[in-house]
Amino acid sequence: MRHEGLRPPRESRHTTGLALIPAELPCPACGGPIDGDTEHLVAALRASESRFRAAFADAGIGMALIDTDDRVIEANPAFAAMLGREVSELVRMHIHEIIDPEDTPRRIYRELVRGERERLRVEKRLKHRAGREVWSRVTLSLIRGEAGEPLYTLAMVEDVTEQRQLGDRLAYQALHDPLTRLPNRTLFFEQLDALFQPSEPAGTDRVGLCYVDLDGFAAINETLGHHIGDQLLVAVAHRLEHGFARQDGRLVARLGGDEFAVLVTDSQGDDQLAGIADALIESLERPFEVAGHRLAVTASIGVVERPVRGSTPTDLLRDADSTLYWSKADGRARWTLYDRDRGADQLTRHLLATALRPALERGEFTVEYQPLVGLSDGTVRGAEALVRWRHPRYGTLSPDRFIPLAEESGAIVPLGKWVLEESCRQARRWLTEFPDTETFVSVNLAARQIWDSDVVADVAQVLADTGLPARLLQLEITESAVLGPGGRPSQALQELADMGVRLAIDDFGTGYSNLAYLSRLPVHVLKLDGTFISAFRDGGKPLAGRRAGADEQIVGAMVQLAHALGLTVTAEGIENAAQAERLRLTGCDTAQGWYFARPGDAELVAAILRERRAV
Ligand code: C2E
Ligand code: MG
Ligand code: MG
Repeated sequence: MRHEGLRPPRESRHTTGLALIPAELPCPACGGPIDGDTEHLVAALRASESRFRAAFADAGIGMALIDTDDRVIEANPAFAAMLGREVSELVRMHIHEIIDPEDTPRRIYRELVRGERERLRVEKRLKHRAGREVWSRVTLSLIRGEAGEPLYTLAMVEDVTEQRQLGDRLAYQALHDPLTRLPNRTLFFEQLDALFQPSEPAGTDRVGLCYVDLDGFAAINETLGHHIGDQLLVAVAHRLEHGFARQDGRLVARLGGDEFAVLVTDSQGDDQLAGIADALIESLERPFEVAGHRLAVTASIGVVERPVRGSTPTDLLRDADSTLYWSKADGRARWTLYDRDRGADQLTRHLLATALRPALERGEFTVEYQPLVGLSDGTVRGAEALVRWRHPRYGTLSPDRFIPLAEESGAIVPLGKWVLEESCRQARRWLTEFPDTETFVSVNLAARQIWDSDVVADVAQVLADTGLPARLLQLEITESAVLGPGGRPSQALQELADMGVRLAIDDFGTGYSNLAYLSRLPVHVLKLDGTFISAFRDGGKPLAGRRAGADEQIVGAMVQLAHALGLTVTAEGIENAAQAERLRLTGCDTAQGWYFARPGDAELVAAILRERRAV
């Protein structure tokens, strides 16, 4: 008879040792004494047992033997330490005192114990004596008797609590905004994507989104500092979360910066979303107390509501973004419901606005120059600097598309300064190459440059850096930018004029056109707006003749008055010879327009100057 396999003691006589082979080994099959043939085998087994025992006791990971009745037969010190117990305590303990019975995948474990599988790897929460949980990775191996019958299981247990906690923390961090602790963009998009999965059960077939952006948050950051700005965001997030996230089917997330989203995953329709948007506006009405400051904030909200079918998360976000922009454009502190007809073009505007500053850093802007021509002799007197955006995706964008956005966002201040530098540097080069022509450069100044930046210091610095004489710089300002919020002109104008810089009123004829008033300011030039001149265009044709004649008389009178007040006059938008001739006859001093030259690179102006030709 062969005696193979190990037999565990039915009743352990040892409490701390591992008695796999008792001294008096009865034959497991017949119960009688083992005969001489087996002595060699027994000796070998003893040797292997003591090796196993040593490995078991000294192992760095927890080990335990568990019998088929789920009781611990043996445990090693590492396992006991893991659970805050003594080895002796563990022996004969039922595993449910260590593992939450609810937590065990009973079926698979029973399969193992019944001998239907050899090995099992699970992650389990074990109970520490002190009551806390110990996360462990457990490998269970079945040990069989000589007839292949299951005898007991050997458990190898690794404490992974720290890894697990770290993992949880990382998972939390990956899905939450560290500042406000709200769900972040990633979690928001995960939930949104899940909504649009076709497998979603019926009932969640409409979705709503309120896309919230605080108004004037950048100003708070700039004036009070980022620290206060951050605290304000936390306070806003808190209010939004308490007001709107506590119901099923709602998610309040921070999408970045001062942008938040309220996602309604089981929308009932437009009316429900309108109600939420109203409540959002109302919830922000009460001022926030932040670090001793009482801060009033408003928000602009874009609202989109639609069936899930036939739409995508990308569409939803894109439309919410456009709608948010409409709220901003319509005066802020309001919500707007998405209207398909309002044009997707507006989205591009919003995208462009945020792309402005990075584009400036990447050097995507260039300046073109358009000659300003003396009407008496057709020579170039100067050139207007006109900025262009060489956008990598949209091609060259004209200033009408991005200057208003830059004004709104404040990006006009660095952009305008860059244009000023670039233009003055260029004018200085013309002066070097053509010292006797005294070609000036005329640079547009935006209202925000005059009122929100130290334009006097900037101009002085640029002139000093480039070496351009002040008399060769002209600054163009619109009428509305001349007058500040209080209806008073900016002090900066006088200081600029005192430096010797020439000031021109741009687009004259489109605003108040109060010549008498303007003449009291340090202004030197009037630029008559192109639309004003356009009536001259078809002046020769009979039908338009009467109106053109009237306009011509107005322009003539205006030029005379301007001259009487000591101002020179430039006409913009001259597209043909007839217009040029009529304007010359009305006494206009200089002119600008496609008829003479389209805006072009600096070399265009240099080429004309080089040939000393009239244009
Ligand atoms: P603006 O200062 O009145 O500039 C004249 C505009 O008329 C330019 O348009 C010019 O290209 C265009 N123009 C010139 N000749 C003709 C013509 O014969 N017919 C017609 N129809 N148009 C003509 P552009 O370059 O698109 O600039 C538009 C506006 O953008 C400018 O109007 C100015 O207000 C603003 N802008 C341009 N560059 C800057 C800048 O660097 N800073 C600021 N703040 N504004 C700028
Ligand atoms: Mg201009
Ligand atoms: Mg103009």
